[in-house]
Amino acid sequence: MTYLPDVNVTGLRHNWRTAQQALWFKLLLFFLLWLLSPGHSALAAPIDTAVFTDAMPGKYIAYFQEDNQRLSIEQALRHFASDNVKHGTSNAISLGIGTAPVWLRFSVSHTQEAAALYRLSVETPWLDHIDTWLVSKGNVIKQIRGGDAMPYQQRPMQYRFYAFEHAFEHGITEVYIRVESLGPMAIPVRLSRIDKAIQRDISAGYQYGVLWGIMSALALYNLVLFVFIRQKEYGLYACYLIGFVLNSLSYTGHIHTVITADFGPYFQDWTDITLMLTYSVAGLHFARFLLNTRSYAPTLDNIVKKVTLIIPAGMLLSFIFDQLVFAVVLVFMLNSGFVVLFIAMGVSALRAKKPFAVIFLLSSVTAAICITVSTLAVAGVLIPYNDYTFKAIEVGMAFEAILLAVILARQFRMAKLDKIIAESYARTDSLTGLNNRRGFYQITEPMWMTTLRENRDVSVVLLDIDAFKRINDSYGHACGDEVLLQVAQCIKATAREGDVPARWGGEEFIIFLPETTQSQALIQAERIRKALQNIQITTERFTITLTASLGVAGSEHGITEGRAIADITLEQLVNFADIALYSAKNSGKNRVCAVHDS
Ligand code: GH3
Ligand code: MG
Ligand code: MG
Repeated sequence: MTYLPDVNVTGLRHNWRTAQQALWFKLLLFFLLWLLSPGHSALAAPIDTAVFTDAMPGKYIAYFQEDNQRLSIEQALRHFASDNVKHGTSNAISLGIGTAPVWLRFSVSHTQEAAALYRLSVETPWLDHIDTWLVSKGNVIKQIRGGDAMPYQQRPMQYRFYAFEHAFEHGITEVYIRVESLGPMAIPVRLSRIDKAIQRDISAGYQYGVLWGIMSALALYNLVLFVFIRQKEYGLYACYLIGFVLNSLSYTGHIHTVITADFGPYFQDWTDITLMLTYSVAGLHFARFLLNTRSYAPTLDNIVKKVTLIIPAGMLLSFIFDQLVFAVVLVFMLNSGFVVLFIAMGVSALRAKKPFAVIFLLSSVTAAICITVSTLAVAGVLIPYNDYTFKAIEVGMAFEAILLAVILARQFRMAKLDKIIAESYARTDSLTGLNNRRGFYQITEPMWMTTLRENRDVSVVLLDIDAFKRINDSYGHACGDEVLLQVAQCIKATAREGDVPARWGGEEFIIFLPETTQSQALIQAERIRKALQNIQITTERFTITLTASLGVAGSEHGITEGRAIADITLEQLVNFADIALYSAKNSGKNRVCAVHDS
């Protein structure tokens, strides 16, 4: 796609080596134009088809606005002949919202003998009435009526915006255009040689396809997440993106071309602004939930909530009383407010040190800049209107959408980590850091299955601290806790690789010993008992020592208590150990008993 950013210097531009020189040249040119404008040039220089193949002749255009009464083409011609007209200073004439109908004029000079086919278009799809008269040697040779007030089939080209094609004959052709619309009066007239126009159609299709494709894919993915996870953020984010894509499809005229071609301008205007409203409201609520602003910026949160109630209510009233212009003003206010509120939420999240504040702020500031660029370009202020500046809003939004998706993905990851942490808490005893009963079974269940399958030996040891109640009673609960902690550490230190110790409850502990016969387990239990005897807990006044009783149950050559280990459950083996522990307690404590001893 060729884009000629600056019509009046096109032919000369290649001679200028630096941007600096071009800038000075432009300033000089503006100065000259300004000098010339009051006196002579009611009729600006014609556009020369020899150099001009695809560009926007905004600076070649003279224009004026009707006051009150509709002019005929003859009256308009007379008005242009007078000096009372303005001259375009940028690529697109832009006059704001709710302005009077405007007349434009420029002329085309074709010096070759053969006629040349050109396409003239006004790419703003929302303009209601656009009429063009082509005048040659004082005679109207063609009148082309269009605008989105006209049913789709009757338009000069079956297009989402006003366009027609014309073969320019040798000589000068004057072009007069009258535009009437309630919406923003941005009039980007474009004149393209037919091959360039077709190229442009194709590349515009791809550009929109990529931008909307990215956003639709993200929207769909998050919608699926929302359906399965039921977290509001994902749903609101999907609404925001779908709303934006629909809004973009609507104001670029695509929806009205494909689906609602014959619904008329009234429907189109209201659809445009309703979709603008929808995505803004969804976006703001998405940001509220994502950043959880209510918890640290309640005032801002309230403002956002109120804005998203008041503006839609105002628009509903405008709809009831059929006040389109008022509704347009409201929705543009909401759109500007949207940008400001997004940034404000980002800043307050940053202040509150929220995890995603930086990315959020980066994305919203970028989007804000892009939205501002497009808005200023459409308004014809400061920024030149061209393809890039007009589409900046979509590019900015796609960028924002991706960054917000990054935030959601990271949030997803954090939620997963939270779950992992929560699960590990559910398996762990908080005082000793050992597994609790649940954790014990989670780990040992698969080991038990392996033992059965491979017909291995296995043992369990149950351990109960002797007279622990007395320790609690004499030295206090905190000391009791300290004893439990020390016992746990001692058990851990004594355990072999592969053993699974756990806190069974209160002052009871359990150790699962895979690949261990009962007689080996008895030796191991005895080591633990001795190690516990060596524990000394010294406070300011006393030194506490302790003993414990241990019960052991296990298999010898796959047999325990006369039964094959394959025929019993882990719970039953633990029960046997409990019986053994009972007999250890009963036969004087501070000893180890095996189940067959009992
Ligand atoms: P025995 O020699 O017969 O085992 O007597 P014992 O006092 O050790 O047993 P008993 O079951 O009568 O008392 C256990 C006590 O352990 C009762 C309970 O208050 C205490 N206990 C249970 N869990 C904790 C804990 O987490 N911290 C502390 N400090 N004490 C606990
Ligand atoms: Mg005890
Ligand atoms: Mg006990």
